Amino acid sequence: MSNLEVAPQETDCTSTPANGTLLIEARTVPLGGVRGITVNRTLPSRQVPTIGAWCFVDHFGPAPADSMVVLPHPHTALQTVTWPLTGSIHHRDSVGSDVIVRPGELNLMTAGHGVSHSEISLVGPDPLRGLQLWLALPDDALNAAPAFEQHTGLPIVETGTLTATVLTGEFAGARSPATTYTPVVGAQLSLRPGTSTIELEPGFEYGLMVLDGPVRVDGRALPDGDLLYLGPGHQGVELSTTTGSRMIMLGGEPFEAELIMWWNFIGRSHQDILRARQEWEDHSVRFGTVAGHGSERIPAPPMPITILKPRRRNKPVRRTDGEDDR
Ligand code: MN
Repeated sequence: MSNLEVAPQETDCTSTPANGTLLIEARTVPLGGVRGITVNRTLPSRQVPTIGAWCFVDHFGPAPADSMVVLPHPHTALQTVTWPLTGSIHHRDSVGSDVIVRPGELNLMTAGHGVSHSEISLVGPDPLRGLQLWLALPDDALNAAPAFEQHTGLPIVETGTLTATVLTGEFAGARSPATTYTPVVGAQLSLRPGTSTIELEPGFEYGLMVLDGPVRVDGRALPDGDLLYLGPGHQGVELSTTTGSRMIMLGGEPFEAELIMWWNFIGRSHQDILRARQEWEDHSVRFGTVAGHGSERIPAPPMPITILKPRRRNKPVRRTDGEDDR
């Protein structure tokens, strides 16, 4: 999807999560467009700009099946992960991909130096609902060639009372085939009634989101749609449900590079963003063309009058004890 905010703002991130955990409350963001779809956004947040390389988490729908109409728009320096829960989306991009994105299938587009794509949801029996996630690319992948992957046979692993579909990285001994550029994990967890403790990588930070509740995390109810941040140092977490539920788990090694996120671009400097914006407006070959749309595309919004600065935060508080103290 696209960040269609009319006046995208920089996100200033200076707070430090306390005790190694923080509840990031979802905020509703209108995306504009013909039918005015809104999304619930948890990343970036004021307190937590990234979780590992995960830098953007939008939860959209349920909305009418055909309510997503996102015309060609550009991306730089990131990967998009589209994960429909219900409904389906027609994806076309400047690499030449022309696919239907369906629930249970991972769709991963790597922008590298530059890519453009469109996403139009299809009429169907189910409402449209899903997740749009971005992974920031590290410095050594900024000039990677644009690419698109669709994985229809993701690994599914059973552990305790849950079944995990591994989107990216490795979870419970199962590894996703998806191409990533930093140590990350992404998984959808389906919980049966009961309690399980899942192992966490202490060098990673994590975010947990309930899709369909109820879920208690280390004994505390986690509201649907919010994102519970767990800083590095956690060995494991206890997940319990009385009626069955679904969650998303995202994690990764804390991302060290300083990022500027503006509109659909990620850069390392104001100049990077300015150049990308101008090249999109100039129809540069950098972003290629998306077949099937003629001259239709999303114009870049005007640049803010201020100089964009890297998004910073203090180091997350590392959990060092074994107490359930969040
Ligand atoms: Mn997009």
